[in-house]
Amino acid sequence: MSANNFLPFALPEIGEEEINEVAHSLRSGWITTGPKTKQFEADFTAFLGDPTLESIAVNSATSGLHLALEALGIGPDDEVIVPTYTFTATAEIVRYLGATPVMVDVDETTFNMTADSFSKAITSKTKAVMPVHFAGLACEMGPIIALARQHNIKIIEDAAHALPTTYQGKMIGTLESDITVFSFYANKTMTTGEGGMVVTRHPELAQRCKVMRLHGISRDAFDRYVSTKPAWFYEVIAPGFKYNMPDISAAIGIHQLKRLPDFQIKREQMASVYQEALADLPLELPVNAPVGDVHAWHLYPMKLKVESGIERGVFIEKMAELGIGCSVHFIPLHLHPYWRDTYQLTPGMFPVAQRIFEQEVSLPLYTKMTKEDQERVIAAVRQVLSNV
Ligand SMILES: *Cc1c(COP(=O)(O)O)cnc(C)c1O
Repeated sequence: MSANNFLPFALPEIGEEEINEVAHSLRSGWITTGPKTKQFEADFTAFLGDPTLESIAVNSATSGLHLALEALGIGPDDEVIVPTYTFTATAEIVRYLGATPVMVDVDETTFNMTADSFSKAITSKTKAVMPVHFAGLACEMGPIIALARQHNIKIIEDAAHALPTTYQGKMIGTLESDITVFSFYANKTMTTGEGGMVVTRHPELAQRCKVMRLHGISRDAFDRYVSTKPAWFYEVIAPGFKYNMPDISAAIGIHQLKRLPDFQIKREQMASVYQEALADLPLELPVNAPVGDVHAWHLYPMKLKVESGIERGVFIEKMAELGIGCSVHFIPLHLHPYWRDTYQLTPGMFPVAQRIFEQEVSLPLYTKMTKEDQERVIAAVRQVLSNV
């Protein structure tokens, strides 16, 4: 298979509107946080459809999650509950603040943490919980929020996969959690190259995130630019971070967000094509969202059943030989040396996540794929499974 015929696992979809908007920023002389970032934030709140929310643009979801925990006052001696089945960013930001991430197992079919796994991990030190909406399917937020409220535990949703996702008809980002954070990394459902959005309806949390995203300065660069106060004046009220989103990135985001409803429809259609075309194979296909709800389909995570007779690593190699890029989501936290050794984690503590990991393969699913690309993926899956 020639290299130029290889179907990559993921690719962003960038159009002329995004390119022209970036060029406009570059020509305007204002390339860092400024009017386009403000617009992107306003557009994002409008997209979520709840004007009581504030959207705060940052340079990654990792930064946003860090700001969220900082604003909530998480520190040493605190425990934060996270699923083991996630990307390391979810847990690393807990360590940034000196707190302890407590990993929990996930559900066999949704790959999400549950209220049950959450409840078993609560101690007197638990200060926060971070549900991750794996692949773009919402966690059971009703019971999770109820349990958190009952124990006075803060809720930060890692919504890196969940744009746009709904839970019982409500957009993720508009639920009764404290803070929700979205990612615009290159392979997510929309991108700004690198970027993220912090969303909250609590003005004091929003204010703290805004101050801390730019050096702990009490007014951001744009306010300074338009304010009637002297342009040189600012005050530092905390040792903040450098997490602001530049206008060059927001320029991309403004147009990606406009296209997001169309991206969503395309992902939904592609997912349903896989659901139908692969149904007769020895695979456990991902579950759909409950009727009436939206699955963002950031990923198409399937499991190879034992009766498929093929080991996951071999399957991915054979797919690559046929020119198809696949991936694995995720190598659970408890298997990574840092998390494993720091917290003495063993596979036996997370039997479900361990089993999912050993069988999981993510197939390519992105809007730039053509119908023919997807047919190639399906044919390759069939070929690999029939040659076992
Ligand atoms: C991608 C991802 C992040 C981090 O997003 P960045 O914008 O790259 O910082 C966090 N959590 C999960 C579950 C992710 O998949």
